[in-house]
Amino acid sequence: MSENTNAFQIAQQQFDHVAGQLNLDAGVREVLRWPSREFTFRIPVRMDDGALQVFTGFRVQHNDVRGPGKGGIRFAANETLDTVRALSMWMTWKCAVVDIPLGGGKGGVVVDPSKLSVGEKEQLCRGWVRQMVKNIGPRQDIPAPDVGTNAQMMGWMMDEYSKLTGEFTPGAFTGKPVGSGGSQGRTEATGFGVIYTIREAMKQLKIDPKKATASIQGFGNVARHAAIGFTEILGGRVVCVSCWDRNDKKSYTYSHKDGVDAHFLFSITDPYGTIDKEKALAAGYVAEDGDAWIAKDVDVLIPAALENQVNADTVQKISKTVKILAEGANGPTTPEADEHLKEMKIFTVPDFLCNAGGVTTSYFEGVQNDMNFYWAKQEVFDRLDARMTEAFHGVLKMSQDKGVGMRDAAYMVSIQRVVDAMRLRGWIHGS
Ligand code: NAD
Repeated sequence: MSENTNAFQIAQQQFDHVAGQLNLDAGVREVLRWPSREFTFRIPVRMDDGALQVFTGFRVQHNDVRGPGKGGIRFAANETLDTVRALSMWMTWKCAVVDIPLGGGKGGVVVDPSKLSVGEKEQLCRGWVRQMVKNIGPRQDIPAPDVGTNAQMMGWMMDEYSKLTGEFTPGAFTGKPVGSGGSQGRTEATGFGVIYTIREAMKQLKIDPKKATASIQGFGNVARHAAIGFTEILGGRVVCVSCWDRNDKKSYTYSHKDGVDAHFLFSITDPYGTIDKEKALAAGYVAEDGDAWIAKDVDVLIPAALENQVNADTVQKISKTVKILAEGANGPTTPEADEHLKEMKIFTVPDFLCNAGGVTTSYFEGVQNDMNFYWAKQEVFDRLDARMTEAFHGVLKMSQDKGVGMRDAAYMVSIQRVVDAMRLRGWIHGS
């Protein structure tokens, strides 16, 4: 595959494309196509066997004109500064598209977390905070979980931050466990948010959700709750989900003739998203090749695992039955594949709109931390639904008004909000 899959170059390319359409001033473009601050640091950890191992950590703060930076921390073996830069830029657009008063940030550590003991993980989390304590916080930059990190890890990080600053500061991290400053509904939020946008897209395309089918890539936090939501909120049927199998070192697509039971599959999935193949086969599931998910005859495709999964090669396999591509993952579609999707007239809900439910609920979590008053789960879901629905229709209107696709329209809404804030704060001049 010769196409460019460097996430940061893709993020810049997407930005440049819309900046051109918006006739953005050259100086403003230069500010927004690069992160404002980047940190690369080393984290020494005393491993269980007594050896000292040094890990590389990152935090990139793309833009904080609309509020403190916001974005997850990934623990991944193939983490790179460019991936973190891209994700931090997408966070700026994501917070702006759902109109929450936060900017863009992202962090990472180059590590395979499945190879660490619980104690080593905790030391790595606390070490990450010790390196960043001066440059993060509820009024500066607020990290959250992402691939390879979870609520417990945010609990440790928040604890370390509170100890170092001498003040209980739950709002320094979001995605914490409920009972330790976390919000009800945060776990489900990204996947359910994906479903709210699919529901609105179906209304637009006059698709009956109860007759609709979906194929999902991934079975981690986002994919799993998207699968549950597709069945339980929309009343549709999930034909298959897929996952990376840590034991076989390859990915599989799991389907079932009656549709996937996400609760059952979750009960046989390890903490890293690998479904137990033997148990799935015993329960009547069929295990196909990892790429099979994209070729299914369904109404909706939900890539919810990794970047660049819908690319020049795989896009050719998409069935003519597909009407909606809902990007649960960050950056799942390459620009080349995006052009094919337009030709195929597939309605795309772009990543930073589609998966904004997580950050929106993180924002709710910060609000609850500030108030020291916590909402019931249904209240969180109702507020989330209202935000996602409004954001979806704001983007749809922009798409119709400007005659552009949903991705360009989402960029237009977000970039305009960020540029307006820059103007209002006097970073740039002009009316
Ligand atoms: P996760 O670590 O919980 O799960 C990742 C899943 O992808 C696992 O099931 C894994 O087995 C699967 N996977 C990995 N490689 C695969 C492959 N080659 N084929 C099929 N499946 C594969 O991660 P997550 O939190 O669900 O995040 C998934 C995506 O959503 C990422 O792009 C992330 O940045 C994005 N995202 C997550 C959140 C959130 O709240 N968790 C919010 C917004 C965006």
